[in-house]
Amino acid sequence: MPQSFLDAVAETLTQIEADGLTKVERPITSPQGAWIHADGRKLLNLCANNYLGLADDPRLIDAAKSALDSHGHGMASVRFICGTQDLHRQLETRLAGFLGTDDSILFAACFDANAAVFEPLLGPEDAIVSDSLNHASIIDGIRLCKAKRYRYANADMHDLHAQLQAARDAGARHVMIATDGVFSMDGYLAPLDRITALAAAFDAITMVDDCHATGFMGPQGRGTPAHFGVKVDILTGTLGKALGGAIGGYIAGPQPVIDLLRQRARPYLFSNALPPAVVASALAVLDIVEDGDDLRAQLFENARYWRAGLTGLGFDLLPGEHPIIPVMLGEAHAAQAMARGLYDEGVYVSGFFYPVVPHGRARIRTQMNAALTREDLDRGLAAFAKVGRALGIVA
Ligand SMILES: *Cc1c(COP(=O)(O)O)cnc(C)c1O
Repeated sequence: MPQSFLDAVAETLTQIEADGLTKVERPITSPQGAWIHADGRKLLNLCANNYLGLADDPRLIDAAKSALDSHGHGMASVRFICGTQDLHRQLETRLAGFLGTDDSILFAACFDANAAVFEPLLGPEDAIVSDSLNHASIIDGIRLCKAKRYRYANADMHDLHAQLQAARDAGARHVMIATDGVFSMDGYLAPLDRITALAAAFDAITMVDDCHATGFMGPQGRGTPAHFGVKVDILTGTLGKALGGAIGGYIAGPQPVIDLLRQRARPYLFSNALPPAVVASALAVLDIVEDGDDLRAQLFENARYWRAGLTGLGFDLLPGEHPIIPVMLGEAHAAQAMARGLYDEGVYVSGFFYPVVPHGRARIRTQMNAALTREDLDRGLAAFAKVGRALGIVA
């Protein structure tokens, strides 16, 4: 390998380090949960996407273990060659039923689902109108598609209207609006009531990535569209957050759309089928979620208590009801110091700063889950109070 290449790579790493943007991974030695073990210590974990607290649920572990016995370890095949088991089709049907669509199609991750969804469905005559804060995987998926691209300011309905008009004025054949259901840095919901109304006015298709909502937002956890009481055309989502936290993604939608994706979606055609243990535990998680009003009530009660507690201490929060609760800290160094101080107090959170969020909008993103107890939250609040005061962030 040419030394000049390695030098260039090392130079980039040095720059990342100099900018204070290096991400450090802490190896956790326990299952994912409200409490985790790392560095030989027990830590209260307030930054997992484990909204329903199911990531180490014994029912999911049992389902995975029995599928290992009945269906083996791995498929060693893509779906269409010899990688489709009865379990895969059962899960696709169950997901579609849960989400209220005709059918669904599984992927290795939602990142792949978003990479897959645009290119087979839209061509150069078409347009995609995309929210400026959409997840990286939507942005990448759009890059892989030949449709014309329009971007609107985050959740700005005037701008969405203007961009839809621009797409129509340019003569687009099909127009698709693409948005996250929930924007993960802020915990804000996309206004799907107004987005679907605009879609109807402009005869546009709606595509919603509901990763931070499926399982707990809306009646029976059916997601952001259910929360707003509207229907969207195409949904993408993950098994890696509230739905057990393992891995896997899906696209749900009308039958012909799913059928075409099965023929043409490249991350589906050219990548391995999900392992049976993961598929079986996802089926088990849907049983729990469909019957999960208690878990959802606990999650939102925790979110209310945590918000009220932090607000009472004088922290600056973004408003909302979602279990993503960002504590706004201004500059990157404040978020880093706060996260470090909390870690020393046994509370695991993570700081977000530029380029993930805008300059001057650094934050600690706390996330609630249903497995946290009142006692856990009080422990967390005490730590926030102590570190916040020590750093002069709150009085
Ligand atoms: C987490 C997330 C993804 C990626 O999901 P994976 O299944 O982990 O690949 C995609 N979109 C959004 C909005 C997400 O939050």
